[in-house]
Amino acid sequence: MDFKQLGINNLLVDILKNAGITEPTPIQEQCIGLVKGGADVIAEAQTGTGKTLAFLLPIFENTDADSEYVQSLIITPTRELAIQITEEANKLAKAKEINILAAYGGKDISSQVKKLKNNIHMIIATPGRLLDHIGRETVDLSKLKTLVLDEADQMLLMGFKNEVEDIIKQTPKTRQTLCFSATIDSQVKKLAYKYMNNPVSVSVQKESVTLENIKQQVVETTDRRKQEALFSVLDQDRPFMAIIFCRTKVRVDNLEEAMHLRGFNCEKLHSDILQSKRERIMKTFRKGDIQYLIATDVAARGLDISGVGHIYNYDIPENSESYIHRIGRTGRAGEKGYTCLFVAPKDMEILEEIEKTIGFKVERRNISE
Ligand code: ADP
Ligand code: MG
Repeated sequence: MDFKQLGINNLLVDILKNAGITEPTPIQEQCIGLVKGGADVIAEAQTGTGKTLAFLLPIFENTDADSEYVQSLIITPTRELAIQITEEANKLAKAKEINILAAYGGKDISSQVKKLKNNIHMIIATPGRLLDHIGRETVDLSKLKTLVLDEADQMLLMGFKNEVEDIIKQTPKTRQTLCFSATIDSQVKKLAYKYMNNPVSVSVQKESVTLENIKQQVVETTDRRKQEALFSVLDQDRPFMAIIFCRTKVRVDNLEEAMHLRGFNCEKLHSDILQSKRERIMKTFRKGDIQYLIATDVAARGLDISGVGHIYNYDIPENSESYIHRIGRTGRAGEKGYTCLFVAPKDMEILEEIEKTIGFKVERRNISE
């Protein structure tokens, strides 16, 4: 099934094609028709499976560009996600003149208000900022057609339940409601069923990661010694292509600088780097012209970086699920992969959780001085 068969028009299909997107992902295949047809949908699919386009494309199809009302509202838990979705929506807006307003904290509210005086068709917002606008009566949601709760699980985790409910109350009962989430737990379900009308549930099974082909090791170190430990490991391994995960953007910046000074062929990837640059870096990395990609989870999310033989967890991931997600990028299709996790004493608790999940104690790697 291609996008055209799912009811997406040629102009949008061409934009997708230019971005290298030709085949719908499973969640897109299942959602696009339903959403376009007006159904309420609860969709569950892992991070990086293309949920954004699964709702943006049919919403674009359903938006009346001649109308002067806000027709769709996408609520998302973080500023980063709001920005990411806005970027994707702006690309699609080349096919159809849809005015998009991004409303998130940290951005000048008066320029947002000014923009609201024009016809806005779509708002992409974080809950707090949107409520500011509602309070100032700068947005009118009375003619809203579609409401999207994106990353609903994260939204609830971050304690936005009341805000989200306050927002929902400002929208017409006749609206279409869509709920997208990586996991649909009982909390998400409760929220969804409270505000949805005979929702259709769509779920894409988690990609099974086979860890058998991945050799896993742990280097026990300290925060102070970590960098040197990484450098010795890299000098010993000399991987063809590797990804190094750090916890924060600042840690990515610092490590990249240090690696550059040491003469490693590396580039960094995180959400403060311009999208165009990020795409350029990914292209160069895929071609094999960059040996080390230093990234945050957020930046690497959803990127198809299979073919990479080595994953280094410079910082321990937040939990075991994220660990499996990170290392699952190597060792695909029968190929051998290697991963090494650097832990400081404070990381032991998460390491134990990881070991419990994978079912064995990870072999320790000793670094010869
Ligand atoms: P999710 O919301 O499920 O975590 P995203 O919507 O952010 O995932 O998409 C992850 C990445 O996959 C993005 O970079 C997006 O451009 C890309 N992508 C989305 N749909 C497709 C597709 N059909 N083919 C290839 N890449 C896609
Ligand atoms: Mg998403």
